[in-house]
Amino acid sequence: MIRGQPVPLSPSPPRFTSDPNILHLYLHIPFCHRICPYCSFYKHTPGETDLARFIDALLSEARRRSSELQSPILKTVYLGGGTPSMLSPTLLRRLFTGLQEAFDLSDAEEINLEANPATFSRNSAETYAELGINRVSLGAQSFHPEILATLGRQHQPADIANSVRLLREAGIENVSIDLMFSIPGQTIEHWGDTLAQALALDPLHLSAYNLTYEEDTPYFESLECGDYHDDPDLNEEMFTLAHHTLTERGYSHYETSNYARGGHSSKHNRAYWKGADYLGLGPSAVSTIRTRRWKNVPDTTRYMHQIEQVGHAESEIENLSTSQLDLERIALMLRTDQGVPTRHLSEVAPERIEQLVAEGLAERARESLRLVGRGALLVDSIVEHLIS
Ligand code: SF4
Repeated sequence: MIRGQPVPLSPSPPRFTSDPNILHLYLHIPFCHRICPYCSFYKHTPGETDLARFIDALLSEARRRSSELQSPILKTVYLGGGTPSMLSPTLLRRLFTGLQEAFDLSDAEEINLEANPATFSRNSAETYAELGINRVSLGAQSFHPEILATLGRQHQPADIANSVRLLREAGIENVSIDLMFSIPGQTIEHWGDTLAQALALDPLHLSAYNLTYEEDTPYFESLECGDYHDDPDLNEEMFTLAHHTLTERGYSHYETSNYARGGHSSKHNRAYWKGADYLGLGPSAVSTIRTRRWKNVPDTTRYMHQIEQVGHAESEIENLSTSQLDLERIALMLRTDQGVPTRHLSEVAPERIEQLVAEGLAERARESLRLVGRGALLVDSIVEHLIS
């Protein structure tokens, strides 16, 4: 059930099924200098927002959740947005000091921050290292100035290489270069060159996302009025080029849009895909603890006000059934190289699975079903075929 209005947490939060003390934390930092026309995340320019007050609201929410969840141990922390790299070193220190008071971070295996190459300096990189941030995902998107301009990005290709260098000099080796393909005006040659330039930086991780036209974005309007076109053949060609180029260079294609070498896949995202419990703090952040899911109000001013007045900012709460959770796991885990364990497939008609296997799109591997060949490319329609 979804409720439209905020309601308090139940007096006895549900217990976890596996290890009740292990948790993954997401913090949503909704500020961006400039709004990209394809982006559907909750974000805005800071305007008059008091950023110190915002950090204090996040910390207040962190303390409350930590106490309700009996001081869980955090395994991963992910600062996303928005543009977390917009936070000044002073604000980041304030945030991390408070987080360390609220949670036990000593066992955190991965602390990731999303960064925009346009908002980067030696001082920021050194601050990240000092605070224990050990992974940075760089929103590079493309190495072509005209494509970056189409995307409304502020940075130039040289800023990407400069950010990687500054991070390495500060001691942060685990850098992900995040790229996009099927951008309006982008040719297959542009995409091949972007992949080559990203590889020249020798990152431990690369993401290659197919641009999607999300509702309520200027890009969607351009698609609707015919200025932009979504070309499935070009999408496939670009997806396949990324797969061949990156796997030939030793990267493991471990999720539809993600590649890693040396075992440096994203621990935080792997936890999501496996259906682990996660806590989201900040406006619009979603949390799922066992069968309970809630979403914070997607409005920074209301978020701060509600945290200060009533201690939480929930706007929607849902209690998930076992079959809902299984269907979600199928949708998420089929995207990964490990596939979905067969114990989660009880809701799926066996003949639909057999059809995929017969067509060479999936295979049974030990106790799981995983996509192979063109199956990885067709994951969205396959998920629909299995669970509709
Ligand atoms: S910088 Fe990132 S979060 Fe901000 S508008 Fe652009 S894509 Fe969205």
